[in-house]
Amino acid sequence: MPHSFLHMDSRVLEPTASVSHAAPATGAVTSLPEARLAFDNRFVRELPGDPDTRNLRRQVLGAAYSRVLPTPVAAPNLLATSGDLCARLGLSAADTASPAFAQVFGGNALVDGMDPWAACYGGHQFGNWAGQLGDGRAISLGEVVNAAGERWELQLKGAGPTPYSRTADGRAVLRSSVREFLCSEAMHHLGVPTTRALSLVATGEPVLRDMFYDGHPAMEPGAIVCRVAPSFIRFGSFEIFAARNDRARLAQLVDFTIARDFPALVPDGAVIDDAVRGAWFRAVCERTATLVVHWMRVGFVHGVLNTDNMSILGLTIDYGPYGWLDDFDPHWTPNTTDAQGRRYRFSQQPAIAQWNLLRLADAIAPLFGDVTLLQGGIDAFADTYTAAYDAMNAAKFGFDVRPTHRHADATTIIREGYRLLYDAAMDFTRTFRALGEVPDELPEGDDALARDVIAVVFDDVWYDEPKREALRDAFAAWLRRWHAATRTDGRPFAARRAAMHAVNPWFVLRNYIAQEAIDAATRGDLSLVHTLLDVLRDPYTTPPDHASSPSARFAARRPEWARTKAGCSMLSCSS
Ligand code: AMP
Ligand code: MG
Repeated sequence: MPHSFLHMDSRVLEPTASVSHAAPATGAVTSLPEARLAFDNRFVRELPGDPDTRNLRRQVLGAAYSRVLPTPVAAPNLLATSGDLCARLGLSAADTASPAFAQVFGGNALVDGMDPWAACYGGHQFGNWAGQLGDGRAISLGEVVNAAGERWELQLKGAGPTPYSRTADGRAVLRSSVREFLCSEAMHHLGVPTTRALSLVATGEPVLRDMFYDGHPAMEPGAIVCRVAPSFIRFGSFEIFAARNDRARLAQLVDFTIARDFPALVPDGAVIDDAVRGAWFRAVCERTATLVVHWMRVGFVHGVLNTDNMSILGLTIDYGPYGWLDDFDPHWTPNTTDAQGRRYRFSQQPAIAQWNLLRLADAIAPLFGDVTLLQGGIDAFADTYTAAYDAMNAAKFGFDVRPTHRHADATTIIREGYRLLYDAAMDFTRTFRALGEVPDELPEGDDALARDVIAVVFDDVWYDEPKREALRDAFAAWLRRWHAATRTDGRPFAARRAAMHAVNPWFVLRNYIAQEAIDAATRGDLSLVHTLLDVLRDPYTTPPDHASSPSARFAARRPEWARTKAGCSMLSCSS
């Protein structure tokens, strides 16, 4: 069942070709029926802003942001909201159902206390310094402090041009907006640190995109996601000041970030010195390591790990050509723009994260008298990653997470398990889920019976019959060894199964499923978006009555038709 806060209306999904000129930004103010959001816009209050208030594309020097209003859209229409995030921010069902909500989250009006801006940042893209990037189509509305005292920045993605738009239009298409909206919420419910998504609004305006950069531009429906995070500061936010030798503002941004986003490091407003800054960098390294371990656990490939897409809070940010592993292939990248070098392939994510942390360390190094503090952070990345990755794999394979309590052969068995997953082209998500279902009694010494168990438990994990055939005996032999090793710890079946299922989700937002939701949404049918929004809330609990449950189909491995379909296996940066 769709969540009750969801609001269905497909009327304005069709591009309205009559809209050719954007209405001027007005900053019109409205109010929501019930919510009185409390804004405390520290980013613009405490950091240096751009004195030039014209919304013209340019290099913005000496500023962390430019004030800019969203450009109004023709016909904002609310397609979906995240119910629990709305509630967390103090937005009621009456608020989300009101016409004012679509106006505000479509960029046509503000509510009292909002003070919109676009942030200035740079970044290393695909290994090269790219200069100023900045929020080219994202506009932050303000920082809400909710009843629990949590700070949540509200940011519209696709809200129109800003001084940072370079050659692009400041807009976003429905396709990529659905992907970001659903996936960031799915990640949250999987327990992966991420920015979140509050709302999805169709703009009623067409957007021109060349989806595969192959000379075939086409009009697509436009949309705006309101994404939400405690902070949208990126590694690139620091790099831009460093690149411009603006040491004073670099220091200001570091100290601001520590004070606002890492308050535990400065209890009672303690003075920020080298040691505090060093502890902060270390915390960033540790959070980043933890984040990447989560990605490796759930089979997520970000796709564009440029330094402008690295959150200072260690959140998954900037959902673009991301993807989920179907058949286990550590070399896989969903991003066609990265198909050549595969810089951002699944297995490379930890190394890239560390490379990005080195770029952040380079940027902030001028502030440190003692750069060994930075080395300490980089070392902490490796230590945290190694320990967390080890524990994560142990948990995925049903071993004790404590190395001292783990079976002596666990490391070998895990390595060989991954090897088999790859060689036999087995489904990553389905295989781990199935592993948790393997019964405690495997028929002793009888390979035919063991094969029967395998055939039943691992019925839906294979993508390649010849490979399955070729590795049938190898897999049976491996499973026996895995089985014997895990069962030495005396954990009852139900306990191990529960522990494994708690780290091995049954549901991830597979590329083909997201694409089905996009195709339907483009036809004006939002029902699958809403169904998925409901399903993704509980990704670790197998739906009851598995086979006949309506959600069961969302667990299925990628169907054959999706193997090479655009959007399912191949994605570009076009969004
Ligand atoms: P991304 O690849 O999404 O991380 O974007 C890289 C940079 O390009 C960021 O500065 C974005 O704000 C900017 N950008 C991406 N798409 C657009 C667009 N349609 N209009 C303006 N700027 C954009
Ligand atoms: Mg980006």
